[in-house]
Amino acid sequence: MILLGISLQFLAMLRFRHLQVIASIILLSFAVLPGCPANAQEKLEPICVRGEYAEVIEKFKHLPVEAQQDPANCYVAAYAYMRRRQFLEAEPLVKIAQRGGFHGYAGWTSTEELFSRIVTLKQLCPPLNTWTSSGHARFDVYGPDDEWCQSIYSELPTYIARAREAFGDPLPSVSFYLFNDRAIYEAFYKELFETGEQKSWQAGTGNFNVVVFCKYLKDGSVFGASDLNFRRGAVLHELGHALSGTICGDCYYKDVPNWLDEGLADMVARPYLKKLFADSPWLIAKTAGIKRAPTYEQMCRELYLDPKPRYALARLFTARLMDRLDVGAIGRIVRSARTDGDNFEAAVQEVTGADPAQAYRQAAQDLWKR
Ligand SMILES: [Zn+2]
Repeated sequence: MILLGISLQFLAMLRFRHLQVIASIILLSFAVLPGCPANAQEKLEPICVRGEYAEVIEKFKHLPVEAQQDPANCYVAAYAYMRRRQFLEAEPLVKIAQRGGFHGYAGWTSTEELFSRIVTLKQLCPPLNTWTSSGHARFDVYGPDDEWCQSIYSELPTYIARAREAFGDPLPSVSFYLFNDRAIYEAFYKELFETGEQKSWQAGTGNFNVVVFCKYLKDGSVFGASDLNFRRGAVLHELGHALSGTICGDCYYKDVPNWLDEGLADMVARPYLKKLFADSPWLIAKTAGIKRAPTYEQMCRELYLDPKPRYALARLFTARLMDRLDVGAIGRIVRSARTDGDNFEAAVQEVTGADPAQAYRQAAQDLWKR
């Protein structure tokens, strides 16, 4: 196992491509020689290197029992779980890696660092408050017992029913982390996503297997203080992001066009967001007088540079594309993109019958007006 780690470093150091190929063949022949069987770790690590974390986890679950106790295998699986935001699942595996004296691979987050991140996340994480399930999917909710959070907990059966309707089966399980302390939320967010601070207008996010949300905005105001439907819709919108990414695959958030990601999340939450949908033409009109409509490319990659009008345009454009379709079209788009190498344009065309770039130009013409 250690030999393979060193060998991979050695390969990377070779300057010429043909030397790398020859060395790869020699190393591979060692791996398949009788008496030197290819162990399971040799199969998991390259998958992890390719960034296919969901695949690593699936493969790990199907390893023989003794291979699931192998410290290196446990480390790689824990690493993948952390990238899929499942720190509680990573914890027992990191402990096995630690007990086995496996410290990780060079250039990867070490076993000790993974463990320290898990400890921090567990300290910041609110207690498990409630859960709901439907079929094999389970929504666990970690959060405090205050009125704001209770207003979300009570909607869980509606959320899971809507999720099933929109995404179909199999529906993944999701953990919700709700906070009523902005500083703790920010710290949790940073540790879970290994990233910087949230924007002032952000109160939550949806990502692989998780929804994270805070009662307070950065300026201390309560999110959706006087609009219960908007509050509930915003959390469901984040669940839309979480399910889209979890179902589609590891590259979803990198590859998906911004407008589609936001548009689909709004369509999931639409039953709560009737007012927002109704107000969207006005939100667009406020900007249309002073700026030109964003291009399709800007809607794909630069939506967050001018969030308010572009969110509104994405919302109405997506609604227009799905006008005559049932809400299950959301899941069909996401699953089609998954099987087609994240070709989202082709997936939208397949499900809605419209070429999105072309349809957008018409929609922008119709919608971007005073
Ligand atoms: Zn969003």
